Amino acid sequence: MSLNKLKTIIGKINDLEMSDILNIARGIREQLGTLTEFETFASPDGETNESLHYKDGRVLHVEYDERENLAPFFGQTIRCVIDGELIEREVAHVRKDLSKRVKRFVRSHELFHLIDESQSGGWAGSELRANLIPGLRDPLGLIATIKATLEDKERVQLYLDRIRNSF
Ligand SMILES: [Zn+2]
Repeated sequence: MSLNKLKTIIGKINDLEMSDILNIARGIREQLGTLTEFETFASPDGETNESLHYKDGRVLHVEYDERENLAPFFGQTIRCVIDGELIEREVAHVRKDLSKRVKRFVRSHELFHLIDESQSGGWAGSELRANLIPGLRDPLGLIATIKATLEDKERVQLYLDRIRNSF
């Protein structure tokens, strides 16, 4: 790695410390309570799709999908909003083949993406919030999901690529 590249990375981390971290922390504090509505694992078999009524009137869908449709991701959020108008259903997709504990966490993670109103920190900020906030409510789920990620070579590579590309 060149010295300039290293300086750029350090500069970005410094920028984060100066501005984004405070925004991220504020976003987390504001949104800590929002997940309580989804706390019960509404699909006990982890396979039956769900429709959840959020407090702002939106209907959020949870759909359980086959591994091959989502891998290497454990889940995915589909939200199509143009000019503030929703043009498709808002769906949290969760992989069927995961363990029950990981499925529950991925469900909270993807649902959190759907209700996250903060824009701070870009991709990293969004992922930080969607892991940290559900993780505070379900630490074992977070740990199980990290463990499942580390055991999945394809996922480790995906994260390494994303981190590399973001600098
Ligand atoms: Zn995510």
